[in-house]
Formats: sequence, structure tokens, C-alpha cells
Amino acid sequence: MTSTALTLFNSLTRQPEPFVPVHPGEARVYSCGPTVYNYPHIGNMRAYVFADVLGRVLTWKGYRLTHVINITDVGHLTDDADQGEDKMEKMAAARSQSIWDIAEHYTQAYWQDVAALNIRQPAQWTIATDYIDRMIAFAERIAPRHCYELDSGLYFDVSTVADYGRLARAHTDEGEGRIEAVEGKRNAADFAIWRKTPAGETRQMEWESPWGRGAPGWHLECSVMSGEVLGFPFDIHTGGIDHREIHHPNEIAQNQAFCDCGGLGEAANSGARIWMHNNFLVERSGKMSKSSGEFLRLQLLIDRGYHPLAYRMLCLQAHYRSELEFSWDGLGAALVRLKRLLTAARNVVDAAADGAALADAQAAVTHPKLTPLLEKFDAALSDDLNTPVALTVLEEAVAVKKVDAAQKGALVAAMLSALGLPLAEREALRIRPIAAQIGEDEIEAALTRRKAARADKDFALSDALRDELAAKGVEVMDGDPLGWEWKLG
Ligand code: AMP
Ligand code: ZN
Repeated sequence: MTSTALTLFNSLTRQPEPFVPVHPGEARVYSCGPTVYNYPHIGNMRAYVFADVLGRVLTWKGYRLTHVINITDVGHLTDDADQGEDKMEKMAAARSQSIWDIAEHYTQAYWQDVAALNIRQPAQWTIATDYIDRMIAFAERIAPRHCYELDSGLYFDVSTVADYGRLARAHTDEGEGRIEAVEGKRNAADFAIWRKTPAGETRQMEWESPWGRGAPGWHLECSVMSGEVLGFPFDIHTGGIDHREIHHPNEIAQNQAFCDCGGLGEAANSGARIWMHNNFLVERSGKMSKSSGEFLRLQLLIDRGYHPLAYRMLCLQAHYRSELEFSWDGLGAALVRLKRLLTAARNVVDAAADGAALADAQAAVTHPKLTPLLEKFDAALSDDLNTPVALTVLEEAVAVKKVDAAQKGALVAAMLSALGLPLAEREALRIRPIAAQIGEDEIEAALTRRKAARADKDFALSDALRDELAAKGVEVMDGDPLGWEWKLG
């Protein structure tokens, strides 16, 4: 019944391509994970909502998914190229804390956001520092033919592989102007795969290697962890669109060197068949950054009273390849939409069917009003994960009348699961006034009294109650079609 073939946009070819798994029936996916020197901002979390949706769609299409996400706890410099300090070392020094404690704290914080956004657990979280020996072995294998040593480290010579920079659409001969030259580099785009600790210094994180004491380069880490766990070539590599410019071209060059592969006319030579990138979440004020002091964390949204799934909804409403602008109004609208959807879904989905798979829906859905919806939904997701369209089809399915209730329930449950929207109580989706000067019970009580006053046509009292709430930061909403009575002013 779900006849549409899955098509995904490959950044390497800049084209939509049919998904053809390397191992029949399986899908192996690697996602670049967070650098755990600070809390993730909600832009970072967009990358993982996207990767989660990709995983869920692969499951929906019947593939056995192996998803790996890494945790970068060493090696990511303050500049994506070779300049600057290690982000972890810098934060540890600023806080006078051990890197290991910093990494542990922010990894836990990231995992909390993962759970709050209903992002599924991957098959494996790979921690970069667990793979140091394999990084050294990988570097030893490619060094003789592809690397050279300078005082500051072991460098990868990008001219030794075919088609370097194709992913970024950059040409090495034009040079990458923004990369400051390290003395002795053969090409501007060459990058360190092992960074030696400068003589007379010690780093908190450093290891012995054939090139001296030091630490791995960030790009090396992802090549090693992805190849080690999934095997080259695997199916899909994901990351934010910034990784298309430096990090992923460098991973690809290393993978080509490691596999002794030719040019990138053959996508699998890159180490993965498909490279996918989510576009940025932006603020009107500019690019979101977690190295700046103040930034948008999921916890801030929660503190302002928004359920975290409202942010997931905001992400789903945009195509992952479109830039998405964050605004509090937009978040509020996403929450209303989520609430309308889940409140209605609660009434049609049998709790037992929550999290149902496509197979169940396919088997269950035969009603002539429901099968076209199933097909439309499948076609949307199969079209490079078109979640904005899939959401509207889900809303149609929730609203459809005069159909078999069990079939409708099974269909809605499967659709919710494909988008990662869990059934939730209406109560749980209320805006919670953590930041307001008044408790929820008090608001509810005032609203009940106000309702009674209006029924008695005592508009003076009704207005007084409204003003009282407004003084405490709560705006009363009359006539909301979903019966949502108030919001934080
Ligand atoms: P980082 O922890 O800096 O390595 O970033 C984690 C992930 O978030 C990477 O895949 C980045 O490409 C992605 N990312 C960073 N900023 C944004 C943003 N504003 N919107 C969407 N994704 C982002
Ligand atoms: Zn990576």
C-alpha cells in the first residue's frame, strides 16, 4: 500500500536520490553529535530532531535502523579549521574544572534535551575519547601516503585525494581564504589530524602517539567512529549545514584515503552513500551561538512555560532544508497546534496503540476514506522527509468522520509515531507559568470565578478578574477555539 519509494536529498550531488541501502533491508546512519563544552542551544537540537525524523522515516519504510551519534569530548577547536583552542580545554580553564567533569555535565544536559524532545535513543552513542587508540591506528594507516608532519602536528594533504571539497563546492586551487595559514602547510585547506602538545605545555587531555604527545583532530574522530561502528561505506551521514563546508569534506578526504578509494563521482567512495544536512535555526538578531554568554536553551523555553514538544512541533512545521526563524510567537503557535492535534488524537487512539508501526497501520487500514490518507502521508515523508505536508495529512486523519474507529486509531497512532509526537494529556501541554508571579491553581480558580461572573452577566467583576490576572503577567484569552484559556503576557 505504501508504494512511494524513499527519496533523499544528497548534499554530495545536490540532488534528490532514491534511497538504496548498502545492506538490503538495513539503514545505517551516523550523525555528528554535540561538542560537550556547553549546553546545546535549540539550534543544535534541530539537528537531532532532524536526524530522529530521518531514523523514524527509515523505520516507517520498514528498514532495520542502526543509528550512531557521537559525543565530541576532545578535539573540536574554536574555529572549524585549524585555528584556535580546543573548546573543551578552553571551557575547563575558564571554569577551573576538569575536562572530564565538564564533558560529563554537558553530555547529561544534552541527553536530557534529547529525551524532552522525544528523540529516540540511537543504537549507540560513541564517545570520542573511547576511540583514541583506533584514531591513532587510522592515522598510521593513512599517514604514509596522505600526511606530513609539522612542528604543530600531523597534517592531511588534501591534494592526495581526488575531488577534495566537492561536498562544499570548494576548489582547493582557489584556497579557502578564511583559513589562516599554518607555517609549512602545503595547501591552504590541509588540516591537522593529530595536534601535538606544544613543547613545555601539558594539556588536560593528551595521549602518546607516533607523532608525539597530543590530541586527535576533530575530523579524524568522526571518520573513525563512523567507519568503526557502521563500516565503510554506510548509508547516510548527517549534520548541520555548517558541516558541509569543512568538517565533512575533511572527513570524506580521510575516508577516501583510508579505503584507498577513487573520486567522488562514485558517492560510496566518500564513506557514505548519502550526506544530509539540516539548515539552521536562526534568530532575527543573527546566528545562534553557544559560545556566546546568553543563548536559547531548551530549558529556557520550559522555564517560560512552553512544553518542549512545542519546539519539536516548530521544527516539524518547516522542511529540514529550509532555514527556520525562531520567535516566541511562532513557538506559541506551534504549541497551540500541537495541543489541538494531541487533544483530538487522544480521543481516537487507543492507548495500547500508542507508538504503533506502519506495519500495524497497513494491516489495519482498508477503509476507502483512510487508505488515501495513509498513502498521502507516506508520499510526503518519502519525498525527502516533507514533515510540513505530513503534519497536515495527520490533521486530516484525526478529523475524518464516519470511518471505522479502530482503523482510524491505528492510522493516527502510526502517523504520530512516525513524526515522534507522543500522545500527551491536554493538561501536560498547558503553558506552565514558572516565570509568572502566580500559580496555575490560582489562575484556574480565577478563571472559574470569571466564567461564573460572565454567566451572571456581571461584566464588571469579569473585567476586574481579567485585570487582576493581567497584573500578574497572565493574559486571558476569550473565544479560543481549542478552549485554551490563558497565556503568559
Ligand atoms: P556542535 O555541538 O557545535 O558540534 O553542533 C552540533 C550540531 O548542531 C551540528 O550538527 C551543527 O551543525 C548543528 N548546528 C549548529 N548550529 C545550528 C543552528 N543554529 N541550527 C541548526 N543546527 C545547528
Ligand atoms: Zn562529525
